Amino acid sequence: MVMDAKGASESKCDGQASELQSMMDVEARMSVENAHPTIELFREDARLRDCEARISGIDERGIRLDRTVFYPHGGGQAGDSGELRLAGDVRIAIADTRKGESQGEIVHVPAAGQEAELASLKVGDAVIAAIDWERRYRHMRFHTATHLLCALIPHPVDGCSITAAYARLDFHMSEPLDKEGLTAGLARLVSASHPVAHRWIIDAELDANPSLVRSMSAQPPRGTGRVRLLEIEGVDLQPCGGTHVSNTSEIGAVVVTKIEKKSSMTRRVVLGFLD
Ligand SMILES: [Zn+2]
Repeated sequence: MVMDAKGASESKCDGQASELQSMMDVEARMSVENAHPTIELFREDARLRDCEARISGIDERGIRLDRTVFYPHGGGQAGDSGELRLAGDVRIAIADTRKGESQGEIVHVPAAGQEAELASLKVGDAVIAAIDWERRYRHMRFHTATHLLCALIPHPVDGCSITAAYARLDFHMSEPLDKEGLTAGLARLVSASHPVAHRWIIDAELDANPSLVRSMSAQPPRGTGRVRLLEIEGVDLQPCGGTHVSNTSEIGAVVVTKIEKKSSMTRRVVLGFLD
């Protein structure tokens, strides 16, 4: 939770902001420890479905690559699944992607029952790393829809989960929410085809532009050098490290499937797709 100058809570999509914070912590420590973290191609281009890479480590937890298109579970967004393709038509099914124990490390977690294939892998082997694009694209559509929801519900977020089947956000609030009204609001923002883009901004630019900071729906973490901002033009601007579609029209037919009162100060909103 980030506090503004007045001490009020300004952070909304907290899970996403904390994902960003941990991402920047990684960058801050990289130079200190001279570590060799995985190059995160998905941060610059969420639409990359595959990439060439080399195996940089293998252990009982999974496979590390020098670069990857696989998003590791974080900020509420599920980790990617997919496969690694190697010479000799060897294929390793990847069930999940997680952050490793050391900073900047991404672990590709193999599906069970591939012991023989895994035993054949060596550090340095060339692979094609390919995500399950259909599943990830649903994550991107849902993730972008959660930003729209943040714009429609101006309250702090204290929980977030984004999967291929649903997305849910927990808002810190006591007022009732209108399911049909929110679904109509989402439909309006989707059909208005707002462009979605990220950009990096350094702390000095943030300091020089207090009005930019004021316009953000969640306040950026400071002191880590640079911040990744996600902007849905005219709708939402906040720090976020996740993967998004490039136009709200790509979200398609999203609806509020459920609103739950989880506690006196928590309202849970669950989103689903009609397709
Ligand atoms: Zn986001």
